Amino acid sequence: MSQKINVPLLDLHAQYRTIKPEIEKAVAEVLASQQFILGPKVTECEAAIAKYSNVAHGVGASSGTDTLLMCLMAENIGPGDEVITTPYTFFATAGCISRVGAKPVFVDVNPATYNINAAAIEAAVTPRTKAIMPVHLYGQMADMDPIMAVAQKHKLTVIEDAAQAIGAEDKGRRAGSIGHYGSFSFFPSKNLGAAGDGGMVVTNDAARAEKLRVVRAHGSKPKYYHKIIGGNFRLDSIQAAIVTVKLAHLDSWTKARQNNARRYDRLFAESGLKIADSGASPRPGLLAQRAGGDGAHVITPKVFGSRHIFNQYVIRVAPRDALKAYLDSRGIGTEIYYPVPMHLQECFASLGHRTGAFPESEAAARETLALPIYPEVSEEQARYVVECVRDFFLAAK
Ligand SMILES: *Cc1c(COP(=O)(O)O)cnc(C)c1O
Repeated sequence: MSQKINVPLLDLHAQYRTIKPEIEKAVAEVLASQQFILGPKVTECEAAIAKYSNVAHGVGASSGTDTLLMCLMAENIGPGDEVITTPYTFFATAGCISRVGAKPVFVDVNPATYNINAAAIEAAVTPRTKAIMPVHLYGQMADMDPIMAVAQKHKLTVIEDAAQAIGAEDKGRRAGSIGHYGSFSFFPSKNLGAAGDGGMVVTNDAARAEKLRVVRAHGSKPKYYHKIIGGNFRLDSIQAAIVTVKLAHLDSWTKARQNNARRYDRLFAESGLKIADSGASPRPGLLAQRAGGDGAHVITPKVFGSRHIFNQYVIRVAPRDALKAYLDSRGIGTEIYYPVPMHLQECFASLGHRTGAFPESEAAARETLALPIYPEVSEEQARYVVECVRDFFLAAK
């Protein structure tokens, strides 16, 4: 057994050390200006993110949750309406649909990517369906062509939840640039994180961008005249200034994450464990669940499309919780994204779903585990992580 070393799931200090002077300068400028809400720093950030995402307009907002809410409000989606989404996501996606009074309609995920199974969406469309909200989970985009085709056929709005996928591409097209709206989060653990909460909606439609700006400011235009009801969804100048500084580094951080992912792939392949990738056909089983023992110990993430930005590197294992506890005891931080799919959350009990309704999401919730993938993970740390996984399955038994 190798010497214990510490590998946190995410280490923001490592990144901050490399950009501290730039961040401090940007924050000092905001403080000197004493303009804290919206203003030139937000406008600059909106233009930069829109350009980066190859989209015409950016509308900065208070979080990647509020951005989803703003899109739904801008489309007047509410009671009696249905929005199709994935049950295997962060809560905000489904939560926002319910918050506007609409009904989240779930479509199970494709186990190769953990993204919504695009081929199954059309069967979920009803006369009440107003929108589709695909999530680009872990930094890899959902299969957008069939999603857009169904949307076009049934005249539905597509809101891409790209909170984990800024800069990701599907066949060369950037996350957020394909649907009617793209929603980003600047939560600190996302690939482009602020020093607090923040988010942005991007859209190619000038009228939609304008409506979002009105929704963002209590529905008022001009000030104190309210044609619609909005909220306070504004982005702070300090957060915008920090995000703009960090955006210049994003591609190098993305490259480091991609290299880390390839390194895990290679180390797993060399580990002596039985490895399959999530796109393998026929679908790989997990060793611990198979009497014959011909399945894999670890299923690694398969990259489809053109650019996976690896917000997370998620493996699939069984028994997952025991491995997580073992890695924790060895100093390695991991996380379960997500332990309970949306259709089984207590708050959605009124939707009436039972265990077994979305089996792929339920299996993913049982078996997935995110390993440390942040840009500064060292070769030594990555080797140690894979050694510990190997020890768990082979040496410890
Ligand atoms: C992080 C995240 C959000 C919410 O973003 P916040 O900025 O934390 O509100 C929404 N959807 C997904 C898929 C996310 O990962």
